Amino acid sequence: MIEFNKIFYTGNEIKYIENAMQNKTLHGDGKYSEKVCELLESKYNVNKVMLLPSCTSALEMSAIMLDLNSEDEVIMPSYTFVSTANAFALRGCKIKFVDINPSTMNISIDEIKKAITNKTKAVITVNYGGVSIDYDKLKPFLKERGIYLIEDNAQGIGAKYKNEFLGTIGDFGCISFHDTKNITSGGEGGAIFINNKKNIKKAEIISEKGTDRKAFINKKVDKYSWKMIGSSYLMNEIDAAFLLAQIESIDEINDYRNQIWDKYYSGLEILENRNYLIRQVKPEYASSNAHLFFIRLKTNEDLKGLKKFLNNYDIESVAHYVPLHTSEAGIVNGEFIGDDIYTTKESELLLRLPMNNNLTIDEVVYIIEKIKIYFGVGINE
Ligand SMILES: *Cc1c(COP(=O)(O)O)cnc(C)c1O
Repeated sequence: MIEFNKIFYTGNEIKYIENAMQNKTLHGDGKYSEKVCELLESKYNVNKVMLLPSCTSALEMSAIMLDLNSEDEVIMPSYTFVSTANAFALRGCKIKFVDINPSTMNISIDEIKKAITNKTKAVITVNYGGVSIDYDKLKPFLKERGIYLIEDNAQGIGAKYKNEFLGTIGDFGCISFHDTKNITSGGEGGAIFINNKKNIKKAEIISEKGTDRKAFINKKVDKYSWKMIGSSYLMNEIDAAFLLAQIESIDEINDYRNQIWDKYYSGLEILENRNYLIRQVKPEYASSNAHLFFIRLKTNEDLKGLKKFLNNYDIESVAHYVPLHTSEAGIVNGEFIGDDIYTTKESELLLRLPMNNNLTIDEVVYIIEKIKIYFGVGINE
């Protein structure tokens, strides 16, 4: 079986976990957490990193940070994972979904601009597959209007927009260490990048159940108490220890994924030239972490046919997402603004090919050959 996703272990995970167990406590903000945060802050040039139980909790924290009320509006793509919207639905504000640009499947900047009203509090972008939008065309526009920019960067650690790392461009960058992402903290995990210093203190309170426990630990106050709404948003030390082992290898991990990406891209060129499919596009401004490689088929029948064909050769491939504005909870909690030209259509045409660090280049060549055979193109063409 050529698996779509398969967890990659770097080899130091157990050693670091055993080491963490020598310490007296295992709860959040321990020695490993501190080490990982310092590493991420210096490596990616972030003001403040906090490790969290998931990217979902990072999105929830960002939403709490904004003090939203039921009249406030936030804009996001409908083509995304549920957590992007769920975090804001929990705050009871209005969710405005807008269309995407099909070449990257990222939110359309023009549609964002059309959807903005004087009630818009934030725009949430999703750096799909580790490739972002052209932020220079959006960020100054939002800044002028006092609108927050939040990056759902669940998939994009280590990737860049021009010279800036993804996750460091918005007011908040939300990262996932789920085991389907490039690196994991042992199954579930995440981080929030806080890029504006003025937000750090409040984020610390929210993550500590809405208390100033952090100030207490740092001996800045002599007791701690309930300050505002918050939740339990810290990563434990076992997960942080596991994560350190993975972060130490992140550059090699992302480089290898890019090799796989390039192989797919060049290998499938002939099929795009002959109009059977369209390959994922990497814009000029982007350096990707190759979180995923996708193709867009011409019809949903082609997608189902190819998926089944590959499956017969034990090759897994994955289609997603069900657009949020057409899903049960999305209809209740949100509204699509503008025309749905691409979101629904493209969601039924997009297929993701196997991408993980256990995949060999020979296996990638084998997958490319099978796709060529499906379309009746010679494997040496
Ligand atoms: C994976 C993912 C999430 C959720 O991440 P968790 O760490 O599992 O909570 C959110 N948004 C996007 C775009 C994702 O791909």
